[in-house]
Amino acid sequence: MLKCPYCYEVLSERVTKCSHCSQFIIDNLIEVDFISMDKKKCVFCGEKILVEAKICRYCHKWLDELDRTVNDLDDL
Ligand SMILES: [Zn+2]
Ligand SMILES: [Zn+2]
Repeated sequence: MLKCPYCYEVLSERVTKCSHCSQFIIDNLIEVDFISMDKKKCVFCGEKILVEAKICRYCHKWLDELDRTVNDLDDL
């Protein structure tokens, strides 16, 4: 099973652009044996997205930017 490395939605084949989050896929696709369907709410638009998602497939905002900011502060 192939998943988009950004929105973690399932892809039916190796594509260069994700049909879910519209990102060009420059990283390796994620290969998984089973699909986690756990969802969380996007902090920006409130739509339900996969818990692992790094980008919201609805508003296309990067969710890990929040984490990155926190991590940067921890390093100081
Ligand atoms: Zn995607
Ligand atoms: Zn969103």
